Amino acid sequence: MNASSAMPPMIDVTAAREIAVAQITPVRAVRDLPLHAAPGRICARDVTATSAMPFFTNSAMDGFALRHADLAGTGTLLPVAGTVAAGAAGTFLPPGAALRIFTGAPLPLGADSVVALEDTSEAGGRVRIDVMPDIGANLRLAGSDQPLGACLVARGARIAPQHVGLLAANGITRIAVTRRPRVVVLSTGDELAASGAPRAEGQIHDANRPMLLALARAAGCEAVDGGTMPDDVDALSQRLAGLCASADLVLSSGGVSMGGRDPLRPAFVRAGGEIAGWRVAVKPGKPVMFGRLGGTAFTGLPGNPMAAFVGFHLFVAPQIDRLSGANPLPFARWPGRAASPWPHRPGRQDIVPVRCLGADGTGLPLLERLGKGVSATLFPLAAADGLAVIPAASGGIATGEPVDWHPFRREG
Ligand code: AMP
Ligand code: MG
Repeated sequence: MNASSAMPPMIDVTAAREIAVAQITPVRAVRDLPLHAAPGRICARDVTATSAMPFFTNSAMDGFALRHADLAGTGTLLPVAGTVAAGAAGTFLPPGAALRIFTGAPLPLGADSVVALEDTSEAGGRVRIDVMPDIGANLRLAGSDQPLGACLVARGARIAPQHVGLLAANGITRIAVTRRPRVVVLSTGDELAASGAPRAEGQIHDANRPMLLALARAAGCEAVDGGTMPDDVDALSQRLAGLCASADLVLSSGGVSMGGRDPLRPAFVRAGGEIAGWRVAVKPGKPVMFGRLGGTAFTGLPGNPMAAFVGFHLFVAPQIDRLSGANPLPFARWPGRAASPWPHRPGRQDIVPVRCLGADGTGLPLLERLGKGVSATLFPLAAADGLAVIPAASGGIATGEPVDWHPFRREG
């Protein structure tokens, strides 16, 4: 039996995502935060409305509040008995009169309709009704937007500025969120120059650690620099055990293929780790490993930086969602169209960097594939708007053929 016959079959991407997420024990700890600190965090418990909204019936327009029964028809003249502005309280509409009213002002007692300013003319202390309103016109009725007890933010939701606005409108000033997952990132490889040090001959700079730290941080984690390690099984196994003891999830890059200089799997096993899956049918990114060590999830990403980046999006992003209590979203859930032919050999699913050239006649994004199929470089990725999927069975994508893609989040 040679080495390759002992190789496990490659796991398809969907199954690999399930294995990745199954390694995760969600963070249970909860933090009670002021609203301004909550965006990006995951809501730990449903937040329900303690009152119906709007709190009181108010005017939806600038105009005149009146009693509909006082109107004889178009051209009715009513004396203007005063003004009700937003923030007023305890106002009363005298019989047979109108009150000037502004948007958001509470409807005065006795009024049942508001006629918009543009449907009136005012002169000599009287208002003329130029367009007859319906009864109840231009009112925001108490409780009509949101009932008492409505769920304002659901458990598992990623808190966004619009949630902050809604909670603030409801008079809620704090929210329970899950603790940020603590994600440690480690690079492996004898060829990596020390951080900030000049590069010696044959060395390269470590791209993965800063990139994965940035990705983890952008995904809402506390991202911890786990340093670099040479390709040494003993030293690496000790480091892995130490890092796993203080993290919710440990990410490594490199050393997870099957070459003689790939110490990750033996080091992980020596440290007491259990491997749950290894080798995924995806390009780039085949050498990826999932496991657990002492109750902590561990994902070994490939060393090739593009593959590490793709592996993060495919497998680590849903792990982080699960850790923080959010429901993992499917990868590449948006439709687009290939702007030109994309060659592909059936076998592994291909993840390619794409740039959006605009929309086609049906409004779908037209996607240009970047990077000529070279998977080891970050250069085309840095110009990309997202990642697109070429299915494993595809014999090539024709111009105009639909593809699924994952647009990158634009911050700001
Ligand atoms: P490996 O998965 O360790 O076999 O590495 C695959 C390729 O990725 C090799 O060309 C490595 O030099 C390169 N590589 C590994 N780790 C890093 C890193 N942290 N930054 C940039 N390139 C890396
Ligand atoms: Mg290596």
